[in-house]
Amino acid sequence: NPTSVAVLGLGNMGTALAAAFLTAGHPTTVWNRTASKAEPLAAQGAAVAATVAEAIAAAEVTVICLSVYDTVLARLDGVDLHGKAIVNLTNGTPRQAREASAALTARGASYVDGGIMAIPEMIGQPSALLFYSGATETFQAHRELLDLLGPARFLGADPGLASLYDLALLSGMYGTFAGAFHAIALAGTEGVPAVEITELVVPWVTAMAAVLPSMAAEIDKGEFLGEESSLQVNKDGLDNILTASWQQGISADLLAPFHTLIARKLATTDGSVSVNSIMELLK
Ligand code: NDP
Repeated sequence: NPTSVAVLGLGNMGTALAAAFLTAGHPTTVWNRTASKAEPLAAQGAAVAATVAEAIAAAEVTVICLSVYDTVLARLDGVDLHGKAIVNLTNGTPRQAREASAALTARGASYVDGGIMAIPEMIGQPSALLFYSGATETFQAHRELLDLLGPARFLGADPGLASLYDLALLSGMYGTFAGAFHAIALAGTEGVPAVEITELVVPWVTAMAAVLPSMAAEIDKGEFLGEESSLQVNKDGLDNILTASWQQGISADLLAPFHTLIARKLATTDGSVSVNSIMELLK
C-alpha cells in the first residue's frame, strides 16, 4: 500500500510537494491556513483537512512547508504527534532545526529536517536536490516517498545539518546574484540593457566557478598560494570597480564588504597570497 502523507502549507512550494505525492498515487491529505488554496489539489484527489490535527492524524508521514519555523511550532502546538513521522522542509537555521527536533521528538514524533534546493517547478525533476538530516530510520523508511520530490541527500543524524547545507548553498546563490546585480547596474549606467550584459555575465561566472574546487582545496589545506592571481591584483581590481561605481553614480554596497576584507587582509600579509586567504578573516 502506498504511504499516506499529509502536507501542511500550500504556498507555492507546498502545493508543488502535495502535487508530486498525488501524481505518484499516494493518499494525500492537505491543510492550509487559507483553505481556498487547497481547492486545486482537492480536484486532483487530495483530502482536505479542516485542522492541522486532522491532517496529521490521517497520515503516516507529515511534510511541512510553511514560511518560518515559529509558524510550524505554533501550528503543531497541542497536536498529538505520537508515532508520527514529521518531515519539516520549512527554511530555517540549524539551531531552529535542532530545537524543533528536540521539542517534537519529546512529544513522540520522529523528526527529519530538510532543505529544498529547487524552485516549485523543479519539484519531482532530477534537477532538484533535497537535503535531509535527523531521524535516520525514519528517513530510510520513507526514502522512496521523499525521492518523489527530487533526488534526496541524507546528511546524518544531526537534524541541523540539512539547514546548514541549505543555507550554505543559498549563500553561494545570493553571492552570485549580488555580483550579477552590480554588473547590471554598472553596465546600465551607460544604457547597456540588463539582458545584454547578463548574457555575458553568465558564461563568465560559470567559467570562474570552475576555479572554486581548487580554491577550496587550498582553503582545506590552509595554503593560499596566489599563483594565478595575487591578493594585490584582486584588491586593485576591486578598487577600480568601487571607483568606477562612484564615478558612474551607482551604489557599491553589494561589493564593498568584499573589498573591505581584502584590504584588511593586505594590511597584515604580503600581497602575493591568493584571494581566498580572506577566508581566515571569516572565522
Ligand atoms: P509562500 O509564501 O508561497 O507560502 C507560505 C505558506 O506558509 C502558506 O501556506 C501560508 O499560508 C503559510 N503561512 C504563513 N504564515 C502562516 C501562519 N502564521 N500560520 C499558518 N500558515 C502560515 O511560500 P513558499 O511556499 O514559497 O515557501 C514555503 C517554504 O519553502 C519557505 O520556508 C521557503 O523558504 C521554502 N522554499 C521555497 C522555495 C520557493 O522557490 N518558493 C524554494 C526552496 C524553499 P496562507 O496560504 O494561509 O498564507
